[in-house]
Amino acid sequence: MKRIAILGSTGSIGTQALNVIRRHPDRFAAEVLCAGSNAELLIRQAVEFEPNAVVIADESKYALVNEALGHTGVKVYAGVEAMVDVMAMSSIDVVLAAIVGFAGLRPTLRAIESGKAVALANKETLVVAGSIVTEAALRHKVPILPVDSEHSAIFQCLVGEVSEADKLLLTASGGPFRGLTREQLAGVTLDQALHHPNWSMGRKVTIDSATLMNKGLEVIEAHWLFGMPASQIEVLVHPQSVVHSMVQFADGSVKAQLGVPTMETPIQYAFSYPERIESYLPRLDFMQHSSLTFEQPDRKAFRCLDLAYAAIERGGNMPCIMNAANEVAVEQFIQGRIPFLGIADYVERAMQTAHFIAEPTLDDLILTDKNIRNQ
Ligand code: NDP
Repeated sequence: MKRIAILGSTGSIGTQALNVIRRHPDRFAAEVLCAGSNAELLIRQAVEFEPNAVVIADESKYALVNEALGHTGVKVYAGVEAMVDVMAMSSIDVVLAAIVGFAGLRPTLRAIESGKAVALANKETLVVAGSIVTEAALRHKVPILPVDSEHSAIFQCLVGEVSEADKLLLTASGGPFRGLTREQLAGVTLDQALHHPNWSMGRKVTIDSATLMNKGLEVIEAHWLFGMPASQIEVLVHPQSVVHSMVQFADGSVKAQLGVPTMETPIQYAFSYPERIESYLPRLDFMQHSSLTFEQPDRKAFRCLDLAYAAIERGGNMPCIMNAANEVAVEQFIQGRIPFLGIADYVERAMQTAHFIAEPTLDDLILTDKNIRNQ
């Protein structure tokens, strides 16, 4: 039995992880559930899964959650520090990092420092502090198991190989605006941006998919997870989202992992690794996907991809600057304050003007993130 703590249990990844746990009660148990501010859903999850503890980051919701769960024996905590501290609980085997954005960094790092295996969906953690996080995982001898479907695919292609890979081929659906010119992108709306053709996800990652910043974040995530220079990580647009990613080896062979587009498969694999266990999800029907196509991303129209390559090439706190600016810009776009193309403009300006630190400490990164947000 693996006892799992979920950071972000009320989100898209968190609720799908609970589907996996619900289907395998003999293998997985929800030990700790952490939410941001959705108290109602957290309470319902706690009543169903009876975890040891729940944490609500929004302290103003503590009384509500505590009262609702008073009769259950579930421990209730509130606040960001409680969420970080609870990661050290000895009864946790695996932590699913599924908070969105920079907020996921500190609890994930505490989980690693407490010797917990981490199933990582929160890519921003590696984008912002890849060097610190991977070094901590090495020092504490804990695995970081990728949940992002592309990285899970690459991980699965690498399992059992003794030779290093030549190249990672990250696939991208292209998002809702694939094929549009810059002129056409100037007028797109929030509703259109939130309408992803293949995946149902949280708002931030959906907008990131529309700008291709999501793929840029994933290039940086792959760099840290697999120790591959960004110059050997290639992005291929593959609109069907069936080939989740590929790896090329020295002899020219390419291995791919395919499957129906659902996050439950990579979540389950991260939980069950190194085993594969039964899944009740539909199987891939090749007759429904008789044509799998690939094309180059349009880097002129979707500038965020190159901004991410530039950030990881520069290193230091530059990916942190880029990530913070992107989080702010996406929020501004969601609130209707800037146009879609303004996201890349804003990120680029922050990267040109923010204070660069070549070898940042964790405190430097926390301050960098704060400064960009204040700016
Ligand atoms: P959602 O927006 O659906 O969920 C985010 C979760 O994080 C919610 O539980 C939310 O709580 C919680 N949260 C947000 N801010 C805070 C905070 N400051 N403190 C504590 N908790 C917080 O996001 P997704 O599930 O879509 O994405 C989560 C991560 O996984 C992202 O990094 C994303 O890039 C990555 N990912 C997602 C995929 C997907 O299919 N959704 C695919 C691959 C990667 P509440 O709602 O209670 O406020």
